[in-house]
Amino acid sequence: PYQGMSKDRLLDIRKHNCNPMTMKVTYYKKPVFINQGYMQWLWDVDGKRYLDFFAGIVTVSVGHCNTKVTETIEKQLRRLWHTTAIYVNPQMQEYAEKLASLLPDPLKVVCFTNSGSEANDLAVLMARLHTGNFDVITLRGSYHGGSPQAIGLTSNTRYKYHIPTTMGCHNTMCPDVFRGLWGGSHCRDSSVQTIRECSCSPGHCQANDMYIRELKEMFATTVPDRIAAFFTEPIQGNSGAVQFPKNYLKDAYQLVREKGGICIADEVQTGFGRTGSHFWGFQGHNVLPDIVTMAKGIANGFPMGAVVTTAEIARSFAKGLHFNTFGGNPLACAVASSVLDTIIEDKMQENSAEVGTYLLTELAKLRDKYEIIGDVRGKGLQIGVEMVKDKASRDPLPSEAMAEIFEDTKDMGVLIGKGGLYGQTFRIKPPMCITKDDADFFLAVFNQAVQNYMERR
Ligand code: PMP
Repeated sequence: PYQGMSKDRLLDIRKHNCNPMTMKVTYYKKPVFINQGYMQWLWDVDGKRYLDFFAGIVTVSVGHCNTKVTETIEKQLRRLWHTTAIYVNPQMQEYAEKLASLLPDPLKVVCFTNSGSEANDLAVLMARLHTGNFDVITLRGSYHGGSPQAIGLTSNTRYKYHIPTTMGCHNTMCPDVFRGLWGGSHCRDSSVQTIRECSCSPGHCQANDMYIRELKEMFATTVPDRIAAFFTEPIQGNSGAVQFPKNYLKDAYQLVREKGGICIADEVQTGFGRTGSHFWGFQGHNVLPDIVTMAKGIANGFPMGAVVTTAEIARSFAKGLHFNTFGGNPLACAVASSVLDTIIEDKMQENSAEVGTYLLTELAKLRDKYEIIGDVRGKGLQIGVEMVKDKASRDPLPSEAMAEIFEDTKDMGVLIGKGGLYGQTFRIKPPMCITKDDADFFLAVFNQAVQNYMERR
């Protein structure tokens, strides 16, 4: 049993001695005081058990305190912890080779960092050095990190400050097939049908034409003639599993390359088998990026990030000396290596596909049942449930209503996430070890929480 500080004392310290932004996001009205975890379960300081369907935002990929990973950490702790770059440490080389083997040619050179923001910063630096250009384009609604440069890439008002972080960063319209101006609902690469038919002819999405036209317009009016990079998440994470029309990335990559830019896939949320059908999210779009960035689930919660690129781009970068004390240290690499083995040996990508598709299909039934569930989308275990006032208007469900359903779900023992530009989307991203029974428990709880809200309002 928990024998630490009282909850009041913990909250008091949080209020006075912790990052004020952290205080803003106690996440629940009655905060959860987490004390212990095992696989898909978390226990609070009172011993109450929660089914974790958020996994620290996809971070806990193979389950809390996963036994295989924990054993690896214990072993490596007794062998060596050190910095990265001075000597050759076997853990880093072994892991770099293993990771590179999972990416298609010519993406074979790995640089390690400690977080997703650092990985994206490094990717921008590489792109600028390699192309000799400066300007970077990202999609509205994207989240690429919180470092001063990554905030510039991120396009979400909530994360913006009144200081110049966006020099050389431009945002084009997000080809959101639910909330975007031009729709395109049935053109996305998803396992469930959506409610709105668009007027596309088979195999040709008119919404995609419009979003691509918008990007061309940007090249003609807003950015210099040559650009450094185009950055996208294969499925937008913080924005609530926002998906694009099927050929959007393919068409956009072609335009970007004509402008001298390189294409960067931010796989911080979509990598490592989470989308089920593919190991990397970009593979679902049938494109080949020049740089792939990753973090979060890479090491199951141990701080780690990586940038994988081509030998050619790495050579442009190697002209200077880039140093990162901790990025790729032996302990982090041993952990990440064990996580990768576990994903493969325990068939977690396959599980994401199977349980994820089941969840999407069952959630789509709830969408058809309730007027306030506007959209169910995503792939594998990267799922968004977008809540609306009503299906006709698609106006976001107000935050008080979202908070009620969210709190109720938690009180019934399931932790999920919230996101979307208007805070209107529930995010379902459990550890990849969940079972169909867990999915059924979550579905029953979520159904009950929505029903409770409908009865109250
Ligand atoms: N990219 C994406 C897609 C993310 O979701 C995040 C974190 N939410 C980041 C980058 C930044 O990662 P970190 O918090 O590790 O810096």
